[in-house]
Amino acid sequence: MEIISEIRRMKAVSRELKRENKTIGFVPTMGYLHEGHLSLVREAKRQAEVVVVSIFVNPIQFGPQEDFNRYPRDFKRDQSLLEEERVDYLFYPDVNEMYPRGYKTYVEVRDLQDRLCGKSRPGHFRGVSTVVLKLFNIIQPDVVFFGWKDAQQFLILKKMVDDLNLDTSIVALPIVRDDDGLALSSRNSYLNAEERKAALVLNSSLKEAVKMVESGERRADVIISRVKAMIENEPLARIDYVEIVELENLLSVKRIKGKALIALAVFVGKARLIDNIIVEV
Ligand code: AMP
Repeated sequence: MEIISEIRRMKAVSRELKRENKTIGFVPTMGYLHEGHLSLVREAKRQAEVVVVSIFVNPIQFGPQEDFNRYPRDFKRDQSLLEEERVDYLFYPDVNEMYPRGYKTYVEVRDLQDRLCGKSRPGHFRGVSTVVLKLFNIIQPDVVFFGWKDAQQFLILKKMVDDLNLDTSIVALPIVRDDDGLALSSRNSYLNAEERKAALVLNSSLKEAVKMVESGERRADVIISRVKAMIENEPLARIDYVEIVELENLLSVKRIKGKALIALAVFVGKARLIDNIIVEV
């Protein structure tokens, strides 16, 4: 596995791979890798001839009060995990390489970026769209793999790819969970043992919502109230939002019909955790 930290070198590699007609699969990450990331890498290995993974903790997607500085990092461990997966290239630029002095250009996916997590993290998705478009331009991937854990992120990036006519297809893969149901996240490392237990309420309340839908409940407000009550019952958890939205536009639904996304964000200790599930009636 070649580790590349210069954009110029990464571009030269992509250009050469294109010339050889090799398909490039790409997995963007912020590192501190877990099985969720590795599930994306394995699918990339299945679908593409050459796999590039990036590790870049993108400062412009963090708010001023957020965890950019203490975001967990362990490059050596990540490197060996990716070597085990037989990844071909690890793109690992530093902040100055991606945003040199005087950097000015940003990408916005209007409306979608302002809903759900966008409400409590203003500017977050603008940072995500911008870095992902830069990475696409540098790596020129044929197919890119994202996790459904960040459902809003995926829907925004899909819109960006369509709207800007990018020559890349993007794929979302299922949420990988621990045995007890907690969605894997690099931010789970912020949790102590007690908080880790409390964090199970994200998944268990979503499961309760699914049960309600399965037993015939269609009223979004009734389901949301029940989910919120379960989370509020957990002293270490604090709700950011619980919403039931349409998949296309992320706007709230009154009654569930067809497919809907139940999404939530909850603070537990120092961690802001997200989870979601699709229901279909
Ligand atoms: P991150 O390093 O958190 O930016 O995540 C990089 C990619 O891994 C994103 O596409 C995430 O959606 C995906 N990912 C993170 N956690 C999980 C998970 N538990 N299951 C599946 N994909 C995940």
